[in-house]
Amino acid sequence: MITSTQTLPAGYVQSAEINLKKDKRLIILLNIVAFFIFILMFYLLSGFTALVRPDIKNFSATITIWNMLSLLGLTVLMLIIHEGIHGVFFWIFSRSMPVFALRPLYAYAGAPAWFFPKRQYAITTLGPLVGIGAAGLLLLLLAPINWAIMTVFLVALNTGGAMGDLFVFIRLLKCAPTSFANDTGDIVTFFERP
Ligand SMILES: [Zn+2]
Repeated sequence: MITSTQTLPAGYVQSAEINLKKDKRLIILLNIVAFFIFILMFYLLSGFTALVRPDIKNFSATITIWNMLSLLGLTVLMLIIHEGIHGVFFWIFSRSMPVFALRPLYAYAGAPAWFFPKRQYAITTLGPLVGIGAAGLLLLLLAPINWAIMTVFLVALNTGGAMGDLFVFIRLLKCAPTSFANDTGDIVTFFERP
């Protein structure tokens, strides 16, 4: 089995790079796509909630002042959980502390000293999208009625916010099964054997 390493095996060369530090156009594009995905997911998840929670008759009537005040705090908490999930997988696969940072248009977790095999990096990249998505769907089924709309908002926001992760994942899919990825946080580099 291929494991993570701090030294690339012989014969590997860089095959691609996604650089959020240099590529400002990509950041703006990802944020525009994120906005539309957020709207779409909000719409779809509201529909899903109406289906599974027929006890909720009117969504807007379920919103309280307390919910609105909590929303900002919950959004920050969700961002921390999102990056935390990336970080936990970086730690599981490398057994060393990842790095975290917040930029104006994105937040990140990274492990600059490590090269992760394709499968490990795929799990690390998609972890927050899948994990928070699954937890959110469960909450929509079980949460108190007046929290449903907040959950819809947060899951939609997380899905939109994961467009960068999805972009990296799709590029990773094109790499060979034996390839490695290095993630500094805002620069992802892929390495393959030619
Ligand atoms: Zn992410």
